[in-house]
Amino acid sequence: AVRPTASRAGGAIQTADGVAIRLSAIMNDPRDLEAIDPASFAGIGLMRTEFLVTSPADAFDEEKHYDIYRHALDWAGESPAIVRMLDLGGDKTLPGLGARRSESFMGLRGIRLLLARPELARAQARALLRAAVHGNLGVLLPMVTVPGELDAMRAIFEEESTALGKRGLQTRMPEIGMMVEVPAAALMLDRFSRSDFFSFGTNDLAQYLAAAARDDQSVAALYDAATPAVYRVIAQGVALAEAMNKPIGICGEMASDPRHIPALIAAGLRQFSVAPNRVADIGSTIGGMCSDGGPRRR
Ligand code: PEP
Ligand code: MG
Repeated sequence: AVRPTASRAGGAIQTADGVAIRLSAIMNDPRDLEAIDPASFAGIGLMRTEFLVTSPADAFDEEKHYDIYRHALDWAGESPAIVRMLDLGGDKTLPGLGARRSESFMGLRGIRLLLARPELARAQARALLRAAVHGNLGVLLPMVTVPGELDAMRAIFEEESTALGKRGLQTRMPEIGMMVEVPAAALMLDRFSRSDFFSFGTNDLAQYLAAAARDDQSVAALYDAATPAVYRVIAQGVALAEAMNKPIGICGEMASDPRHIPALIAAGLRQFSVAPNRVADIGSTIGGMCSDGGPRRR
C-alpha cells in the first residue's frame, strides 16, 4: 500500500481568512485507493461498504471485510479512516437480504436492516473490531433515526468484542459515529450524546426534507429547491454538535460541488469528505473565500 509521508499537507487547507478546513476522501471501491495519493487528503471520511456485497455470502464474509479495512487503514496512515456499515436498502438493494418492501427509501434500510438482520451487523462488527487495532478507525452508522438504534449497535460491538477476546483475538473499540441524514435525527442531535461524531448525508437529507426521491428525475427540481432547507438544518446541527463538543462533518455530494461550499462553510462546517477527483477544485474554492461564505477580500 502507498504510505503517506510525515510531511504531507494531509488535506489540511485554509480559507482566505485563515480558518482551517479538513478535506478527506470518499471511497466507494477499495480498488480506487491505488490510484489516489493519500498526501492530498486528511484520510478517508466515508468508505461505503456496499461494494463488498455482491452476494449474501459476501456480506457475511468476515475475512473479506477485514482485509479491505486493513488496506484502507494502511492507505490512511496516521489519519482516520471512517468506514460506514452496510447501507443496504433504498437505492442500494441486494436480492436475498431483506424483504421486498425493504427496497423503499422509507423502509428497512441502513441500520434498520442491520438491526433486523443482526448476524449481518455482527460479521461486519467483528471485522471492524479486529481491524481497529491497526490504525485510526472510525465507524459510521447509516440512517440512524433514534438514539436506541445507536445503543443497540454499540451493544453488538461490545458483545462481539468480548466474544473475540475469549477466542484470544486482539480487538479495539473504534469511535462510533452516525450519519445525519434523517430529519428527525438531524433536528435532535443533542439527544445523540452517545455518538462519538456526526456526518451529514445530504443526498438523503435533501430527499427526506423535500419528500422528493433522489433517483426520480420527475421531481429533481423539487429536490434541488430544498437546498436552503438543507443549509438551515446543517447550521442548526453544527451548533448542536459544537455545544456537545462533538466533531461534525459532511459526506454528501454537496460537499464535492463548489457551488455549495460557501453556504456550507458559512453554516459552520469545517470537515468535508469529497469525491477524490474533486479535491483540487474544492480546495481552490475554499482558498478563494472567507469563512463567512463571502469572497476573498483584498
Ligand atoms: C448521503 O446520503 O448523503 C450519503 C453520503 O450516503 P449515500 O449517498 O450512500 O446514501
Ligand atoms: Mg445516505
